[in-house]
Amino acid sequence: MDPRDVYAELGVRRVVNAATTLTALGGTTLPAEVRDAMVAAAQSCVSMEELHLAAGRRVASLTNNESALVTSGAAAAMALAVLAAVTGGDPATIARLPDDTDLERRVIIHCAHRIPYDRAVELAGGRLVQIGNAIQTFEWELEGALAQGAAAVLWVAGDHLGGAALPLDTTVRLAHDHDVPVIVDAAAQLPPVSNLWRFTRDGGADLAFFSGGKALRGPQASGLLVGRRGLVEAARLNAAPFQRLARAMKVGKEEVMGLLAALELYLSLDHDQQSRGWDEAIENWRRTLVDVPDVTLRRVDTNEAGQPVARLEVRLVTPRRARQVAARLWERDPRVAVLEVGASLYLSPDVVDDGDHAYVAECLHEALTAADDREGGNHVG
Ligand SMILES: *Cc1c(COP(=O)(O)O)cnc(C)c1O
Repeated sequence: MDPRDVYAELGVRRVVNAATTLTALGGTTLPAEVRDAMVAAAQSCVSMEELHLAAGRRVASLTNNESALVTSGAAAAMALAVLAAVTGGDPATIARLPDDTDLERRVIIHCAHRIPYDRAVELAGGRLVQIGNAIQTFEWELEGALAQGAAAVLWVAGDHLGGAALPLDTTVRLAHDHDVPVIVDAAAQLPPVSNLWRFTRDGGADLAFFSGGKALRGPQASGLLVGRRGLVEAARLNAAPFQRLARAMKVGKEEVMGLLAALELYLSLDHDQQSRGWDEAIENWRRTLVDVPDVTLRRVDTNEAGQPVARLEVRLVTPRRARQVAARLWERDPRVAVLEVGASLYLSPDVVDDGDHAYVAECLHEALTAADDREGGNHVG
């Protein structure tokens, strides 16, 4: 049996993921090196504290950071970073949570950085304090919020967010004037590899975190928190294996070893060659579709998180038509997932197995040339 058919027994179809590394689609697929590392880890018990400390040291040295911690995802890393900032690593404070009487819980965030994931701050007991607006932010707004006291500033990285927030260097300078740490959400900011140290070592932020299950192609339930030793240590003391608040965000030995393998593999990759491979895949998709009427095809340089991962934009006549085509792709077996934005569908080659590229092209061609089911169509969008 093709191991990819494992879900069929439950009546669940596998998905050929041409959308992106969405958690709702299971993120990504794991390279053999990562799967092997997880299988090996599963075959023996280990001291989780010893493993966390050793893996943290390895991740720190691989990513040019002072310190690091493997977490159960970027959202968990966000919660842990806030717990680190709020408790300062004090064992008695950590032990009495969620009683947070008299603790500074304010976490400053730019309005332009409000993302659906920021509730992890509140999960950790943080109180989001918003500055600026969707168009602009002034330095005095950040200074005013800092002057009232804050546990941390959460700064979200990504060119796709626009320029309404203060730049990282300004944010770091002002926050550090008030001895307040800056935490960077860089969950989907790979590639380039250098982002693993750009925000912390180069940019002066105190902590940054990344998803393990996106471009790194590590386990879906993994992430990494990197940065200043004291804060990373404070984060660690809030987490499993200790029976503290973030015990609920436990990382298994399999995830720790899988993430390490994924990181090592990612750092050893020839990223230029990989991106040439993606370009080729996009060009092949484009070529199979050039003759389809009422469709505009365009190569886009960046992915949905603003990173340099090329995509194919397939522009339909109306959003309604785009929804129909996406629904048709989703109804295939295996399903094909694409990103739908208005009248456009976006296709990413980076999560699609080499053997599935032709299938995506074939399904897309079929869906685009199928009759518009405007009359009598029964798809509920
Ligand atoms: C994906 C993402 C997260 C959550 O990451 P997980 O690893 O799935 O927990 C947080 N912030 C941003 C900006 C993301 O893109």
